[in-house]
Amino acid sequence: MPPVAFHNGQFMPLEQASIGIMTHAFHYGTAVFEGIRGNWNAEDEHTYIFRMREHYERLLAGCKVMRIRLPYSAQELCDITAQMVEMSGYTQDIYIRPIAYKSAERVAILNLDPLASSFSVMAVPFGAYMDLEAAARCCTSSWRRMEDTMIPPYLKISGLYVNSILAKTEAVLAGFDEAILLNQHGYVSEGTGENLFMYRGGRLITPPVEDNALPGITRNTVTDIARNEFGLQVVERHIPRSEVYLADEVFLTGTAAHLTPVGSLDNHLIADGTMGPVTRQLQTLYFDIVRGKVPKYIHWCTPVSTKLVSA
Ligand code: PMP
Repeated sequence: MPPVAFHNGQFMPLEQASIGIMTHAFHYGTAVFEGIRGNWNAEDEHTYIFRMREHYERLLAGCKVMRIRLPYSAQELCDITAQMVEMSGYTQDIYIRPIAYKSAERVAILNLDPLASSFSVMAVPFGAYMDLEAAARCCTSSWRRMEDTMIPPYLKISGLYVNSILAKTEAVLAGFDEAILLNQHGYVSEGTGENLFMYRGGRLITPPVEDNALPGITRNTVTDIARNEFGLQVVERHIPRSEVYLADEVFLTGTAAHLTPVGSLDNHLIADGTMGPVTRQLQTLYFDIVRGKVPKYIHWCTPVSTKLVSA
């Protein structure tokens, strides 16, 4: 079964879904996207789409700011996506990429308002994005995270991601796994595609969204399970960069990165530089939840059966 995309209002083979070179979003980054995981559960042979509704609510918030008008509600976007996944027939972990964009084939026009909009969604096989066991080596980026006075950093606007891409490229070329960006005041904001948590003094601490962090859905998931399943106190407050060096544990959260341990920042080891016990406990439960194995959290998962299609 070849992978299927939903594009220009219909389902079609992914390889046939394309856009023209005049497309506004291609030139100016005038699009809003999401990354959603579909987690394959080999035991019951279903793909569990994780917190799809919340992803589409964030996408629609971005559409409002970018004046991208879609003829679909959040529920309709969920239904289209579940159908696309079912038709694609993947029997492995997938990454679902919806994108709402200014599809008008017009250049040299910067007023968004009159431009036509479209929506596409497709999925690709996707295993681990970062090493989930070996703790990541991170550096503080020389790039600062975008401010709300520049491009709203709490929405997934395509043009914003040049900031993440410059930071990630710089970090990898310098031999690190990931970059941590500071905001204009020098406080820790987040990774290039992940939120940051620090475990220090018996509490989990994460930067507030006001420090230009994306309100991550994985961040929200981990906050909930830390509080409700492990009785941990979770605090949102400014984190100066040097405080991260002194943390007992640090980890990153994101749809792609799941829950990834951090072993060092700027070559300062965090504790002994390996995954800490709190990170491990949270990661273990998180993986069961995203594969639909924990009844209490099954409402976060949309099961899709791909077995009939692939059989
Ligand atoms: N920060 C940025 C810049 C991101 O792109 C992402 C990935 N969406 C995250 C944080 C994590 O967000 P989520 O847990 O919703 O995937």
